[in-house]
Amino acid sequence: MKILETAAEMNAFSANAMAKGYNIAFVPTMGALHEGHLSLVEQGKRENHLVVVSVFVNPTQFNNPKDLEKYPRTFEQDRKMLLEVGVDAMFYPSVNEVYPTEAKSTYDLDGLDNYMEGPNRPGHFNGVVQVVTRLFDLVQPTKALFGEKDFQQLAIMKHMSRKLGYNVEIVGCPTIREESGLAKSSRNVRLSTKGEQTAANIYRVLNDLKQSLKGGLPTSKARQKAIEELNKTAGLDLEYFELVDPESLKPCNDDSEHIQGCVAAYVESVRLIDNMRLK
Ligand code: AMP
Repeated sequence: MKILETAAEMNAFSANAMAKGYNIAFVPTMGALHEGHLSLVEQGKRENHLVVVSVFVNPTQFNNPKDLEKYPRTFEQDRKMLLEVGVDAMFYPSVNEVYPTEAKSTYDLDGLDNYMEGPNRPGHFNGVVQVVTRLFDLVQPTKALFGEKDFQQLAIMKHMSRKLGYNVEIVGCPTIREESGLAKSSRNVRLSTKGEQTAANIYRVLNDLKQSLKGGLPTSKARQKAIEELNKTAGLDLEYFELVDPESLKPCNDDSEHIQGCVAAYVESVRLIDNMRLK
């Protein structure tokens, strides 16, 4: 596995791959890797010649400086995991390599950031689009793999990649969970055992809601019921619970045919997000 630290090295790797007629599957990450990230790598390996994984904690997508500061950084462990799973190149650039000039671009996300993460994390998705497109320019992938765990991010990247004219297929991959049901996340290392048990209620409530909707409970009542359940969970501080259309991300009503349940909550000061297709 090659470790590439500069934009020039990354460019040279991609140019060489292209000259050989190889295509690149790309997995952008912020490191502190776990099985969720590795499942994206496995999926990428299935149909592509080469897999490149970037490990870059992107400052422009953090609206909270404390969150950026506390974000886990585990280079050596990440390197070993990627080596074991058989990645061709790990791209590990510095901030200056990714943003040689000040990162100022602003994007019109066509309203996909009006709900959920958007209002709660101002500037977050602008930063995500900025870094992912910059990485696309450097890595030159034919496919990029994203987790459904970050559901709104996946929807925005599908839309923006098309809108900005990138010829990159955006592939969504299922959420990998702990045994408790908690969605795996780099942030989970900051939870105590008790905290993890508390956080697992998010998955439980999503599952229960799916059953309630199957049983014919109207959408508005279902949303209210889930909010009440989460609010009465000791140690869990709910930020939002929304039922949205999986493509437009607009709130559902009682007639909606497709429903995605999306949650953000704090447990032990750790911000957790999760989602599930409910209908
Ligand atoms: P991050 O390092 O958190 O920015 O995540 C990098 C990529 O891994 C994103 O596309 C995430 O959606 C994806 N990812 C994170 N956690 C999981 C998970 N539990 N299951 C599947 N994909 C995940």
